[in-house]
This record gives sequence, structure tokens and C-alpha cells, in this order.
Amino acid sequence: MTLLTEKIYYADQNILKLIESQFELIDCRNWYRLYRNKLDNSFWRLDEVDKYQEQFFVRLESSENWTEYDDQSLRIELLKKHRGTSSKKCTWEGCDKNALNEMLICEFHAFKEMGVRK
Ligand SMILES: [Zn+2]
Repeated sequence: MTLLTEKIYYADQNILKLIESQFELIDCRNWYRLYRNKLDNSFWRLDEVDKYQEQFFVRLESSENWTEYDDQSLRIELLKKHRGTSSKKCTWEGCDKNALNEMLICEFHAFKEMGVRK
């Protein structure tokens, strides 16, 4: 059994394996799947497979309105953590965040304007 300590993960092979062994599928709706962690009864949401998009696995506060939960800020934070930031400033006009490593823009603008997910 593995404890998931973060609120969001990329649904890579390890996470998908973990879901299979440790989670129960509760519902599928609106391009999401709702899972319950058998270990601690927490609820998690997985994106349906889409070959053009990165799949995320997100911890929910509860199972109520589970398709509505807004996880965009978590996705942006994960992008930042995954890529890391450089000492250069984002070149987007009016933005004073640091740019992501080997990019000219920050995680927010990479996510919102360029569609970068990972
Ligand atoms: Zn920016």
C-alpha cells in the first residue's frame, strides 16, 4: 500500500497501477472518473484517457459535485514543480513571475496561453 501525500499527480504508469490495486471506481461522468481510495476513503478524480492531453489524478475534498471541482491551480502548480523555474523573468507583458526552465514564460502563461501541461 502506498500513501499519496500530494493533491495532484500525473497519471503515469505507477499511478495507474496504484489506482488498479488500491482504488475503487465509483462513477464516470463528463470525461472524468471518480475513485475512492480503499486505504483512507479519500476521493480522487482521474481524467479520461485522451491521447492529446496529459492525464491527471487529483485528490478531491469530497465526492459532492465531484465533476465541478476546479483543479486548475493544482495543475499549474504541478507544471511548475515538474519543470522547475529559472532566474529569468516571464516575458509575457505585465507578468513578474519567473520563467520555467528552458522556457521564456512562467507556468501560468505556459498553461493558459500555450496549453503546456507537463
Ligand atoms: Zn507569466
